[in-house]
Amino acid sequence: MSARLLSGNVVAAAVRAEVAARVAALRARGITVGLATVLVGDDPASAIYVRNKRRAAEEAGMRSIDVRLPATATQAEVEATLERLNADPRVDGIILQLPLPEGLDGQAAVARIDPAKDADGLHPRNLGLLVLERPGPRPATPAGILRLLRYYEIPTAGRVAVVVGRSFLVGRPLALELGARGVDATVVQAHSKTPALPELCRRGDILVAAIGRPRMIDASYVKPGAVVIDVGINRVDEGLVGDVDAESVGEVAAAITPVPGGVGPMTIAALLENTVALAEGRADDDRENGATDG
Ligand code: NAP
Repeated sequence: MSARLLSGNVVAAAVRAEVAARVAALRARGITVGLATVLVGDDPASAIYVRNKRRAAEEAGMRSIDVRLPATATQAEVEATLERLNADPRVDGIILQLPLPEGLDGQAAVARIDPAKDADGLHPRNLGLLVLERPGPRPATPAGILRLLRYYEIPTAGRVAVVVGRSFLVGRPLALELGARGVDATVVQAHSKTPALPELCRRGDILVAAIGRPRMIDASYVKPGAVVIDVGINRVDEGLVGDVDAESVGEVAAAITPVPGGVGPMTIAALLENTVALAEGRADDDRENGATDG
């Protein structure tokens, strides 16, 4: 492989150290930052993601609050759980692990999270703030990718970024982030109905694959010298693979994120960063309101 590997592990470690320092500063004021994770059902991949998030929160000095509901939980039960966490003063950030089991509506449930405790930045209000380019918690995976690009000094202004995928979790908010003022990429958003996809992708100076199809993006999709961001996490017989065929793309691209160890750790770092920022906001509000430490 001739492409440079853009390690997310390296950047995430730096972000997590910054978060830990901010958590410690709050602790010095008598405040313990709390992150609640809500896992519904027993999907093994989701359980691993939640475990990794909890572990990272604890390593940053946060209190991790683990909430589990059975796969048989109703929409009303999931939403009641979120309401309870909204009201819990120990909780600064809430993550509802998606996707929810069949029959439950993840978007409707996320909308019940207090936007001021929305660690994943997926509440409709916070997505609105993203559209308006106003401050607020940002969707964690896109925020992590932006961090990664900045850290490795990948230019975005004036570049064409092709984002394959338009989910509300990754593709769509990422396209907004890349096209925002100050980032200034010219964004093309592709999806399953996009014709002549390889040709379109070859326009991208930056190519992001957020598809969920193992190794779909091969060298024929990649402009020589492009930066390729592989968001995909797919379980196949040999283990975890991305949406990018790293072997062939690594010969054409200038740089590529590995799977694992690329976007995944950046997502966790970004949601810890969201959580500490939400906790700092609450602490400052409490001080202004004359409340004692909670
Ligand atoms: P998703 O909700 O299933 O969305 C997939 C998107 O890819 C859809 O917009 C879909 O188009 C598009 N797509 C599917 N097949 C396509 C094809 N053949 N050609 C072009 N576009 C196609 O998935 P997601 O939640 O965005 O996740 C995408 C991948 O990222 C998954 O592998 C997931 O596990 C991974 N992921 C990783 C992280 C991380 O931290 N690394 C975080 C979240 C997700 P339509 O809209 O037309 O259906």
